[in-house]
Amino acid sequence: MKQFEKNDNSFTCAWCGHAVPILKYSSRDHCTHCLASLHVDINPGDRANICHGVMLPIDISTDSKKGYIIHYRCQKCGALHNNKSAEDDKFATILKVMNKTYTPLDYKDKYRK
Ligand SMILES: [Zn+2]
Ligand SMILES: [Zn+2]
Repeated sequence: MKQFEKNDNSFTCAWCGHAVPILKYSSRDHCTHCLASLHVDINPGDRANICHGVMLPIDISTDSKKGYIIHYRCQKCGALHNNKSAEDDKFATILKVMNKTYTPLDYKDKYRK
């Protein structure tokens, strides 16, 4: 079993509707605008989880090696999950999560056409 699979796809964010481009240097796993992710992995990139609930950021910590670590809770099953922040994540959103002023409903369907 591989523990990490590169699975870098562009996708439309299930929460805000933003068209998220591929990341190129790693697997894209969350939205650059609202930071929402989908509960699709058991191990990073394996897409083996059948939950498919929307995971919303609940906290962010900093790691001297990895940078910002986004902490998620799945809205469907309640599982907790961590993802590394991508270099093109919207910093204003990261700050909001860090300052506990992030309100997911402000982003819901915001970029959907
Ligand atoms: Zn989004
Ligand atoms: Zn889930």
